[in-house]
Amino acid sequence: MTSMMDLIHELWFLRRDIVSDGFDQALNRLAEEIPMRIHTYPSGEACWTWRVPEKWTCHTAYLETLGGQRLLDYADHPLHAVSYSLPFEGEVSREELLRHLHVHPRQPEAIPFVFKYYKRDWGLCASQVLHDSLNDPAYRVVIRTSFEAGALKVGEVVIPGESEQSFVLVAHLCHPAMVNDDLSGVVVGLEVARELLAGPPRRFTYRLLILPETIGSVAYLSHNEGLIPELHGGLFLEMLGNDAPHALQGSFQPESQVDRCFNSCFSSLDPVGYTGAYRTIIDNDERQFNAPGVRVPMLSLSRVETPKSSGRPPYPEYHSSLDTPAIVSSQRLEASKKVVLGLIDAWERNQYVVNNFKGEVFASGYGIWVDYRLNPEGHRRLFEIMERCDGERTVAELALELGISFQSVWEVVATLLDKNLVRLSPQPQPTSSR
Ligand SMILES: [Zn+2]
Repeated sequence: MTSMMDLIHELWFLRRDIVSDGFDQALNRLAEEIPMRIHTYPSGEACWTWRVPEKWTCHTAYLETLGGQRLLDYADHPLHAVSYSLPFEGEVSREELLRHLHVHPRQPEAIPFVFKYYKRDWGLCASQVLHDSLNDPAYRVVIRTSFEAGALKVGEVVIPGESEQSFVLVAHLCHPAMVNDDLSGVVVGLEVARELLAGPPRRFTYRLLILPETIGSVAYLSHNEGLIPELHGGLFLEMLGNDAPHALQGSFQPESQVDRCFNSCFSSLDPVGYTGAYRTIIDNDERQFNAPGVRVPMLSLSRVETPKSSGRPPYPEYHSSLDTPAIVSSQRLEASKKVVLGLIDAWERNQYVVNNFKGEVFASGYGIWVDYRLNPEGHRRLFEIMERCDGERTVAELALELGISFQSVWEVVATLLDKNLVRLSPQPQPTSSR
């Protein structure tokens, strides 16, 4: 079993463009770590309103002075070529070159990540520093790329539960030579899946999908329409290694049980973490799962310094050659794994709490009375929770209604379960309807 950091070191520099040999190589390597089914979608295949693109290969790409001095080379860094760049070869004027030479908006030393998967053009990427030093009237550009029939790959790890009802974890793997976005989410997802596989059977089936962003999710969902009704919730994972607090972004359906559950337990899992509404923190594959015709409530977990709503990038090295193993740490990846497992634990427990009792419970008779003189808060909580155990509220709903954490409610519910005063039900079971 390879550690998360070792996998990152092994895979990060691969040219993992959306449909490419590098992507396949990375996915095949991950499949050696855990039982994985690899779904294959050929180039040109219709996926709802989309089509699977061709396989793209960059054989050579460089920029030279007319005197033959090499200024940048794809062989040195995969980000020097625009992902899915058209081939181009020739002498170009400085003006024309600059129209095709991309720089990072904020990091003068970094090569930016630029992709043109569908609206294609030729392009190279350079640091702002190099860009600013280009003063010759003309340069020589060589970009040898090929587009051919290939296949998009989606890796799926299934951890069967007591029910076919599924919870889906998603991470993308298609960012060449970058780590925090996106390999960090992949390795955390893999480690979570390993723990789930090793642990006792869960109520839900868990599915981890490792795919190229957007088109991978659309390909999988459009070819597994029958499964969509079984997907009861999801969590997208990325940016889990950088030094920033966890951000939990809600789904398109903020009233869903999974939103309620995760929101009510999140602050206990990361006291400095914060939450935000759908599309206010970061945009990723959760958009495809939350979309019309799918509507799987999928939240996302990432470490984000500055949410999207601020108009700034999520972290300084975002989409650049500075997103290397140096900015992620195994401690933070480990901590993120624990947060994901904590969310899953709560999700497993989040059922309707149904009273087996009528009237107010004779608390001291059951040995659960809390002395209000010693613990006024505990006393109040016990009674506030018990009077709401009516088969109409889940654990998460009790927590949100009372403004306390999922874990605090669970402690009381666990005591009541132990005394057989309540039972749990996956469906509402109103006991007090009039
Ligand atoms: Zn990205």
